[in-house]
Amino acid sequence: MLSNILIIDIIGENMKLDYLCTGLDIADDEQAIEIFRTIRWANGVYCPKCKTFETIMAGGGGSGKPYRYICKKCNNHFNDLTETIFHGSHISLGEVFYVLLNLNNKNIKQISEELGCSRQAIHRISKIFNNEVEKQTERKRNL
Ligand SMILES: [Zn+2]
Repeated sequence: MLSNILIIDIIGENMKLDYLCTGLDIADDEQAIEIFRTIRWANGVYCPKCKTFETIMAGGGGSGKPYRYICKKCNNHFNDLTETIFHGSHISLGEVFYVLLNLNNKNIKQISEELGCSRQAIHRISKIFNNEVEKQTERKRNL
């Protein structure tokens, strides 16, 4: 549910994403996580479980790693990527962004060679993303 909302945000903010990623020729984890935080926490960091904004930062960050947070209300531990399609991805966020931004003008083989990832990994990301886009389009059509 939350991941869908996030995807709408990202697609909705595509212009912004393109703008922010101008010159992002290589997968840059630090830049990617910064952009991601800007979009996801646009209104402030909130708990994905109980939605309160009463959270405290619990460390993490640095070299493109997600920050960790604790919810003051429900004691939920989460990080920047929790409950998004980017959580638990085998390739880094910078690489995921690189894939998503280049899917329209490069093929999977080309991208996998550039990143030194398996074609399956690239294919998996493109599939997850396309599925989400389809779901969103479907949902908007039904509104
Ligand atoms: Zn909470």
